[in-house]
Amino acid sequence: CTKQQGRQGYTVFNHQLRINQADQLALESELRRALEVDDQLQPYFQPFIDANSGELVGFESLVRWQHPLRGLISPALFLPMAEESGLITRVDRYMINAACRQLRRWLDEARVSPDIALHINLSSANFHDPELVAWMRDIIDSYQLPAAILHLEITESALIDVPDIAATVMHALHDLGVKLALDDFGTGYSALSYLHRYRFDVLKIDQSFVFDVDRKEEAFAIVRAILALAQALGLDVVAEGVETAAQLARLQEMGCGKLQGYYFAAPAPADAIDWERLARFVQEFRRAA
Ligand code: C2E
Ligand code: MG
Ligand code: MG
Ligand code: MG
Repeated sequence: CTKQQGRQGYTVFNHQLRINQADQLALESELRRALEVDDQLQPYFQPFIDANSGELVGFESLVRWQHPLRGLISPALFLPMAEESGLITRVDRYMINAACRQLRRWLDEARVSPDIALHINLSSANFHDPELVAWMRDIIDSYQLPAAILHLEITESALIDVPDIAATVMHALHDLGVKLALDDFGTGYSALSYLHRYRFDVLKIDQSFVFDVDRKEEAFAIVRAILALAQALGLDVVAEGVETAAQLARLQEMGCGKLQGYYFAAPAPADAIDWERLARFVQEFRRAA
């Protein structure tokens, strides 16, 4: 929000602020309720694909709020409120549980291989909470999951807030066998120092670089540098936001390992995943090669 809009702009700003605050408070109590009932908060799943074979290699779980009156609410609209109100750790635990329950079903149905990765987004507030680790162990035990399937996605801003505790919690998670992914790589302030200080397993190249990778020299150079860095450090790479065949072809040429984006599939609820479409990328990639 900006305040430097002159008299008229300022009035509008105040007005919006008031509405937003009232709305925020209402949303906050509705989110508390949503955490207590079933099915309002749902994981949507978006696949990622091996860039060489076209095989399905993972899913990312992304929260959606199916509000009984307001309809489907995207994370951009309620996660800031969840962060401010402290409800975010409950949202994240709810989502970890829901995503792991679904993964257990897919494994039981032999829908997915146990070599797959399940990525779950985690907000920084979780790193203030050393109990997260014991709680994660319980989840892994109760769903009988191979811990290495689980990848927790963390953005760099998560590490700015709580560097010391974050290191402790991340080490303990690693000791459980859980993997860590650095999300939106390249958009934070000091991404390289985080790679130096913490052990990550996966880098996710931010979609802003992927967007221009086939038509702007700068984006191409940045992606190439990230791939070289990841290779030198022994990290897996997922490119986010792949939308076009041209981006796909460019990322394949460059040797990017895994690809995610609307080109393959948008996030969808578990029962709406188009498994046949996902299976077709293997043939499609073979034909193109
Ligand atoms: P993210 O983790 O970086 O997720 C990528 C976002 O890009 C998702 O938006 C996804 O729907 C969208 N996306 C995927 N493919 C494409 C594409 O090809 N083109 C474009 N333009 N966009 C694409 P979404 O689902 O709205 O999530 C936004 C952010 O909210 C996520 O960014 C993540 O930081 C956060 N988030 C989502 N679920 C959770 C959660 O359960 N817990 C926490 N703490 N944060 C979450
Ligand atoms: Mg993510
Ligand atoms: Mg991301
Ligand atoms: Mg993001």
